[in-house]
Amino acid sequence: MQCVYCGEDIHFEPGAGYVHRNGMAMMARCPHCGWKGPVKWYERYCPSCKWLSLRDDHIATPNADRG
Ligand SMILES: [Zn+2]
Ligand SMILES: [Zn+2]
Repeated sequence: MQCVYCGEDIHFEPGAGYVHRNGMAMMARCPHCGWKGPVKWYERYCPSCKWLSLRDDHIATPNADRG
């Protein structure tokens, strides 16, 4: 199963829903340096430049159409 947004492999976690390879459902992006990646809900800063205003990018969503 692949994420419809980023194409990364995702899988279903009981209780959490679909998550990316590293276990994170939410992916974020940094408007400051362009970093993109998974974040925990309590880690709302960019691991690359420490920018504190990460934007939500997308939530893991299975690409159902392509089987
Ligand atoms: Zn994704
Ligand atoms: Zn950044």
